[in-house]
Amino acid sequence: MAYKTINPYTNEVVKEYPNATTDDIQKALTVGHQLFKQWEADKPENRSGQLHEIAKLFRKHSDQLAKAMVTDMGKLYREAQGEVELCALIADYFADHGAQLLAPTKIETVATGDAQIKKHPLGILMMVEPWNFPMYQIMRGFAPNFMVGNPMILKHASNTPGSAVAFEDVIKESSAPDASLQNLFLSYDQVSEIIADSRVQGVALTGSERGGRSVAKAAGENLKKNTMELGGTDAFVVLDDADIDSVADIAWRARLYNAGQVCTSSKRFIVAANLYDQFLAKLKENFANVKPGDPMDSQTTLAPMNSKRAKDKLQSQVDEAIEAGATLYYGNKKIDLPGQFFQPTILTDIKKDNPAYSEEMFGPVAQVYKVNSEQEAIDLANDSDLGLGGIVFSGDPKRGTKVASRIETGMVFVNNFMTSLPDLPFGGVKNSGYGREMSSLGLNAFVNEQLIVTADKPNMDNLAGGLVATDPE
Ligand code: NAP
Repeated sequence: MAYKTINPYTNEVVKEYPNATTDDIQKALTVGHQLFKQWEADKPENRSGQLHEIAKLFRKHSDQLAKAMVTDMGKLYREAQGEVELCALIADYFADHGAQLLAPTKIETVATGDAQIKKHPLGILMMVEPWNFPMYQIMRGFAPNFMVGNPMILKHASNTPGSAVAFEDVIKESSAPDASLQNLFLSYDQVSEIIADSRVQGVALTGSERGGRSVAKAAGENLKKNTMELGGTDAFVVLDDADIDSVADIAWRARLYNAGQVCTSSKRFIVAANLYDQFLAKLKENFANVKPGDPMDSQTTLAPMNSKRAKDKLQSQVDEAIEAGATLYYGNKKIDLPGQFFQPTILTDIKKDNPAYSEEMFGPVAQVYKVNSEQEAIDLANDSDLGLGGIVFSGDPKRGTKVASRIETGMVFVNNFMTSLPDLPFGGVKNSGYGREMSSLGLNAFVNEQLIVTADKPNMDNLAGGLVATDPE
C-alpha cells in the first residue's frame, strides 16, 4: 500500500491505508457535483457560519491534530500546534471576509446598461498537497474555495495520510456538508483520471517542480484552470548596512524551522563582504546550539526530517556539493539517534558549476555566499530558475524595499522572518509556479468572473468601437 505513516522519529510503521477504488472515485465525483449544484444556487454568506465552526473545531482538537502531524512527518509538536492555530485563523479570515470579497463589482463603461462582474464557483477542485505542512497546505485551498462554493477532492502526500484523515474528520464533525472536502488515497493515474472528468473544473497543486510539471500537463491537456505552488531556493540578502545581531537572530530560524523543509526557507544566504565573517560565525553558533530529539519534547529544537528517503537525498546533495568544490564550514556529521535526523550544515565557496548552486536543498543545509556590492547580491539572488520568496536585511528599510522589488520572486520580506497569513498572497514566479493562494487573489483563483451587462432596452447609438461592425462609410 502506497499510503502509510512511518514515524520518522521512531521509524515505526504506524498505519497503512488502502488505495481508493474506481467506485470511491465515482461516488466522490457524484456527491461533489451534487454539492456544487447546490452551492451554485446559494450565497457564500450562508457558508461563513460553518467555516467559523470548522475553525473552532480545529482549536478544540488542536492536540490531536498536532499529534497526527508529528506522527506522520516528525515536526516539532509546538510547531504543529502553531500550524493548527494558523489553520483556524485562515478559516476565520475567509469566513469573515469571503462573502464581501466575492461580492459583484460594477464596471464604469460606455456600453448601454449596467455592467458588473458576478463571481460564481466553477465546479469540483482537485487538490494535490505535500507533507511538509500537512494541515496548513490543505486549509490554504480549503477555506477560500469553501466560501467560493467549489467542493474539493484531496490527494494528500503518501506519507501524511493520518493528517489527511484527521482534517477530513473535522469537516465531517462540523455541520458543513461531507462533500465539501473528500480525501481519497489516489495513485498518480487516478489523479489524472479525475482531472479529465468534466465535473472537475480546477486543479491546485503544491509540491515539487517534478510533480507540478506532470499534474499541470494533465490539467493543460484537459483545459482545466490550475495553480502551481512549487519549490524555492529563496535568497536571504544581507546588505552592508544591516544590523548583524537582528540578522543572526532570524537567519538560523529562517533555515531550520520545520527542520528546513519549507518551500520558503532561506536556502541561499547572500552576505555583504564586510559582514560575511561575522555572519558565518554567528550562524554556526546558532546551528551548533540546536537540540535534536523527540519532537514531542518541548526541549527539542531540531526535528527529524520527514522520511529516510528525504534524508538520503539531502545527504547525496551535500556529498555532491563538497565533491564539486564547496567548503564544509560546519556540520554534516551523523546524529546518533535512530530517527531521520540531519545535522544543520553550512556550505560556502559554491561556484556556478556546482550542482548545489541551482538545486533546492530541502532540509537543514545553508549555502552562504559573499558579495561585494548590492548589484552583485541582486544578480546572484536572481540567478535561479526558481522564484518563490526571499528576505532582505538593511539598516535602511527604504533601501531594503528598493532591493526587494528587484528580486524576481513572488514574495519578499524586508528586515523580518517570512510569514504566511490569510490576508497575504502566497505564490511564486518562474519554475516556482504560477497563481496565488490566500488573500483576495487566492480566493478568486477558481471563480467564474462572469460579465453581466443589463440594459432596459436595446440602444443602437453607441455601437462604434464595440464588437458589432459599424457602417464602413
Ligand atoms: P512532490 O513529490 O511533488 O509531492 C507533492 C504532492 O504531489 C504529493 O501529494 C505527491 O504525491 C503528489 N504528486 C507528485 N507527483 C504527482 C503526479 N505525477 N501525479 C499526481 N500527484 C503527484 O513534492 P515533495 O517533494 O514531496 O514536496 C516538497 C516540495 O514541495 C519542495 O520542492 C517544496 O519547495 C515544495 N513546496 C512548495 C510550496 C509552495 O507553496 N510553493 C509549499 C510547500 C512545499 P505522493 O506523495 O504520492 O508522491
